[in-house]
Amino acid sequence: MLLEACDVTKAFGSFKAVDAACVTLEQGDILGLIGPNGAGKSTLFNCLTGDLLSTSGNVLFEGRDITRLTPEARARLGIARTFQVPQTFEGMSVLENVMIGAFLRTSHRAEAEKKARAVLERVGMSKLADAPARSLGTPGRKRLEIARALATEPKVLLLDEAMAGLTQREVQLAIDLVRDIHRSGITLVIVEHIMEVIMSLASRVVVFHQGCEIARGTPREVTGNPAVIAAYLGT
Ligand code: ADP
Ligand code: MG
Repeated sequence: MLLEACDVTKAFGSFKAVDAACVTLEQGDILGLIGPNGAGKSTLFNCLTGDLLSTSGNVLFEGRDITRLTPEARARLGIARTFQVPQTFEGMSVLENVMIGAFLRTSHRAEAEKKARAVLERVGMSKLADAPARSLGTPGRKRLEIARALATEPKVLLLDEAMAGLTQREVQLAIDLVRDIHRSGITLVIVEHIMEVIMSLASRVVVFHQGCEIARGTPREVTGNPAVIAAYLGT
């Protein structure tokens, strides 16, 4: 098992945003995490990455308990993420943003720059290296976050709605990029509302509703599940 959430609960006061989530991730998986807005998907990501500490339960990575580790320590172990709302450094260039990721593995500027340029090439953003991050639109920022995450040389990449707000064409390009990332040996968890993305990428899907798991299975199984349909319809 690469990554495992065992009975993870995150409470804000008396409200449980994530309620006893159990999710396992095997090397080579593309796991889809879906559910209506407010289901707790981003909160669960935060508990996996250390951006939030879970209230109870454990997070294991390669068999090791990482529940209380800082985000940086988890990143060092090989867990990378993107945010639902891109967290790019607006005043910095595209290249510098990616170098921040690369600095996790090296303290040498030249080496970080070399690695960042290679990642930008890989995600098709080489020509934008010197552009300020603030000049990018949403699709560019989302791709830049993926680039920064890749520069940390992750084993697992968590993508939080990486394709929201993209045009049909941009979604196709992003799907191709995720496939390429997966082929390079990186295991993925994708939170995504666009069913076409889940259908074409995920090998397994877990569905959350109001903090609790309500279904799991193949993309086809869960999208045909009456409980899942009811959750999305708000009934
Ligand atoms: P999703 O990503 O599935 O849309 P979230 O994980 O963002 O859902 O949120 C789950 C629930 O937890 C929502 O009801 C949200 O309002 C609540 N929530 C998220 N973060 C906080 C917080 N920091 N404080 C209080 N409530 C929060
Ligand atoms: Mg979310």
